[in-house]
Amino acid sequence: MATADNVIISVQNLCKYFKKDAIRALDGISVDIRQGDVIAAIGPSGSGKSTFLRSLNLLETPTSGSILFHGVDITQKKVNIDQLRRKMGMVFQHFNLFPHRTILQNMTLAPEKVLRVPHEAASEKALQLLRRVGLEDRADAYPIQLSGGQKQRVAIARALATRPKYLLCDEATSALDPNTTQSILRLLKQINQTLGVTIVVITHEMRVIEQICQRVAVIDQSCIAEIGNVSDVFTHPKSDIAKALILPKSPAENLPPCTGKRLRLV
Ligand code: ADP
Ligand code: MG
Repeated sequence: MATADNVIISVQNLCKYFKKDAIRALDGISVDIRQGDVIAAIGPSGSGKSTFLRSLNLLETPTSGSILFHGVDITQKKVNIDQLRRKMGMVFQHFNLFPHRTILQNMTLAPEKVLRVPHEAASEKALQLLRRVGLEDRADAYPIQLSGGQKQRVAIARALATRPKYLLCDEATSALDPNTTQSILRLLKQINQTLGVTIVVITHEMRVIEQICQRVAVIDQSCIAEIGNVSDVFTHPKSDIAKALILPKSPAENLPPCTGKRLRLV
């Protein structure tokens, strides 16, 4: 069971405003992320999910609030942003692979250019990671020659190339069909369990959360509507937005009239 002392990232009252405060993308978000968590933020489009995720590695500079990273407020202290981002691999909905580079070149680019890892060592590590995601035999292919699921596997392997402790996934399965989604979720779970990588998943899909997450924060209109264990939030959603996302849409509307009591089984 997680305890307060294995909180590794503590987001406190985080606000991010755009256009001179006209757009409030985040308005007082507080959430603790614990070592080894697979935690999700779910919410409708435009609710602030991506801004939240991008704030964690300072791709967005927060307007106010704090992000304690192993106890150090990264919004205040002079942090080494490169080092921070190295610890936080990112995976995106549309994979973001370089189209004119092979899979292996996509994998070795950051380690060679950013970490100054020699070519041989970077290639060896890349092949190891490609083996982990089941694509070692596609090292010389170009992204266009791979399916969506394969591209996402490469993107995940690439995110692991800097040996991050955290993986930030922004709608990583939203462009994939249901079967491929399942296999990517299994891969993420495996990475969490075997490498101990803490994973933050942003999604608008309930099935993603059901599959791999222990905790979920429901974000609505730039605020956290509720947060808790997935089983609690799913069985007893309290906020209107969580109810709307989790419960099937008005099944009672299509049912014949009923004089007795109607029960919903969860
Ligand atoms: P989500 O990922 O939940 O769809 P976002 O975090 O992308 O939501 O966006 C939250 C709000 O902030 C939206 O209203 C969006 O238009 C706005 N927003 C996001 N990024 C910027 C930006 N760079 N400039 C201005 N507004 C932005
Ligand atoms: Mg988004």
